[in-house]
Amino acid sequence: MPTPSLITKLEVFRVPPRWLFVRVETQDNLVGWGEGTLEGHTEAIEGAYADLRERFVGADADNIQDIWQTAYRARFYRGGPVLMSALSGLDIALWDIKGKKLGVPVWQLLGGKVRERIKVYGWIGGDSPSDVVENALERRQQGFTAVKMNGTDAVSWLDSPSELLDAVQRVKDVRATGLDVAVDFHGRLHKSMAKQLAKLLEPHQPLFIEEPLLPTQPEEIADLARAISTPIALGERLFTRSDFRPYLEKRALDVAQPDVAHCGGISELHRIAALTEMYDVALAPHCPLGPIAFAACLQVAVTSPNFAIQEMSWKIHYNKHPDEAAGLEADLHTYMSNPSVFDIVDGHVAVLQGPGLGIEINEGLVRETSAKYIAEQKPWRNPVWRGEDGSVREW
Ligand SMILES: [Mg+2]
Repeated sequence: MPTPSLITKLEVFRVPPRWLFVRVETQDNLVGWGEGTLEGHTEAIEGAYADLRERFVGADADNIQDIWQTAYRARFYRGGPVLMSALSGLDIALWDIKGKKLGVPVWQLLGGKVRERIKVYGWIGGDSPSDVVENALERRQQGFTAVKMNGTDAVSWLDSPSELLDAVQRVKDVRATGLDVAVDFHGRLHKSMAKQLAKLLEPHQPLFIEEPLLPTQPEEIADLARAISTPIALGERLFTRSDFRPYLEKRALDVAQPDVAHCGGISELHRIAALTEMYDVALAPHCPLGPIAFAACLQVAVTSPNFAIQEMSWKIHYNKHPDEAAGLEADLHTYMSNPSVFDIVDGHVAVLQGPGLGIEINEGLVRETSAKYIAEQKPWRNPVWRGEDGSVREW
């Protein structure tokens, strides 16, 4: 009978570029790392952690599912980006602890592997898509075989159809480099424009189109799914299995993109994987975030039969340190002591073999960087976009 591992400490670290790491320590000196990043809402998550700390310091870290259910159900209000991102980070840290305690990677505890390596894709082009071909060629050089790009800049409720032709050309140009390309609509387009763009892109066979409409529109996305053959992907702004349910029941989804740092951690990502498999929907976890979230995604990818491809944030345009001029970095590998575990070979990364999450966090660097960042910088915010007439546009 293993001895309990009572939680003695729950700390959070705000670090550049825009991440929130969680460190959980137990009375038997185990340490687990999680990531509860909610981009642009850092202070809200820190507040949610004040509550989780009050409730779970003293709890047995072995009881991951009891802690998950208590956090989810026992404060009456539940779900949504803030509470679920905080719970996600705690859940990931608890799985890291359990794996380290038992001396096995998390994927062993989820039932073992169903694949030998994990396909990944990188990001090209910023939010005003340009230079995409040059970026695509760089990605190919780095070992990727698939990339994702934004479809458009800001688009109004009814823009000129000519606004969409550039996007089609960019997709054609990237496809010509030999890479597969997914196109993120980012919920920027409303229905009148999104259905035109989806039709125009269809002959160029994007790997998938992502968030063709906002996640408030399951019925309209289901209509789109019936009108085109291109796979429809979404899920980064859905939290728990319950949020995926209408998309599955309405046949509006081909590729599920839960984000492990928002959806409820490794526990809920694993459950969403099983749920979506039942609907013949592929799993492609969203992850423009840090190394802990990425490692957590890989743990589930290894064990999920419907896993298709994993987003990887290495060299994504967000990954900049505010003191970049001083030579400081804030990229996927920056806070890791064993960065080579994320090496890309032929479009894939290897199955992580270390105990727990299989990554080693450079704790000294996290502590030092976080203290300086909090003292000197405001947390990351996304831009607010406005159209020519001054009205707010979706970012
Ligand atoms: Mg997206």
